[in-house]
Amino acid sequence: MRQRIEQEALRLGFTACGFAKAEPVEEETVQVLDRWTGQGYHAEMGYMERNRELRLDPTLLVPGCRTLIVVALNYYPQRLLPKEGYQIAYYAYGADYHRVVKDKLHQLLAYIRTLVPDVKGRAFCDTAPLLERYWAVKAGLGFIGRNRTLIIPGQGSYCFLGVLAIDAEVETTEHIEPQHVKVCEGCNRCLKACPTGALTTEGIDCRHCLSYLTIEHRGPLPAEAIGKLGNRIYGCDTCQQVCPHNSKAVATTEDAFAMNEEIASLTMADWHALTPERYKELFGGSAIERAGYDGLTRNIAVSKDGQE
Ligand code: SF4
Ligand code: SF4
Repeated sequence: MRQRIEQEALRLGFTACGFAKAEPVEEETVQVLDRWTGQGYHAEMGYMERNRELRLDPTLLVPGCRTLIVVALNYYPQRLLPKEGYQIAYYAYGADYHRVVKDKLHQLLAYIRTLVPDVKGRAFCDTAPLLERYWAVKAGLGFIGRNRTLIIPGQGSYCFLGVLAIDAEVETTEHIEPQHVKVCEGCNRCLKACPTGALTTEGIDCRHCLSYLTIEHRGPLPAEAIGKLGNRIYGCDTCQQVCPHNSKAVATTEDAFAMNEEIASLTMADWHALTPERYKELFGGSAIERAGYDGLTRNIAVSKDGQE
């Protein structure tokens, strides 16, 4: 059954698919998460502290679930924005990924029902207290790098993650124990390249991360961040762009993630002239809605022409 589900996941366009037993997360991860929130690294994302019990045990989040099917979907753009113009994080070039990934997971569940008619399942993509990267590692998809992204060997880290929790038991995928992983050995490129020093050995300090600040943070940006923003207006890809695992990134085949022509051809003057109405027309249904009109125009007002 595992092989058939995996084949269907790949047919649906997922880059990778793995299987993990639904069970409480390991104590070491609990401690890492508690230290991270305890130090305030989650900034104003209060939800990271809420639902702690559910976050640490998927069988509480989805009672009766036995297997977590973890998938990755490549979002590396087919065409990049010109370097000299304003920069948007690659993941937000096209349609809102939550919808795209969950739609595919629902199709995968429909397929599984042809194998196990009464199977029940729930699909997640950044939409519930679930440690998706942890489960991706458990399911054998890859490893977590020093830039805190999931790195899929041979593919890199430009992938969305999704989880389908089902109440059927499926044989799990082997994962490689961390001590055998040489994913970051001898490399510190992401730590050195991070413009604000937000990457620490204990995870990302979101209070300094340009990705967090330009997307999640409400209110004025800290002066320190403004000085490091360069021409970023939504998110930051620096710690992924410098990663050698991404040097051969292959463009997504998912047309939903392509940037529409109107957005791609906006000049800097157009960005500065963005009205709430035009914002809705251009970005309705895209991941950029997360920052809101106020957040995006705040970023545009202080970002610079050209790289820092
Ligand atoms: S996204 Fe940017 S600011 Fe945040 S940790 Fe990575 S390089 Fe640093
Ligand atoms: S840039 Fe180097 S240290 Fe950072 S995640 Fe990639 S391989 Fe690891």
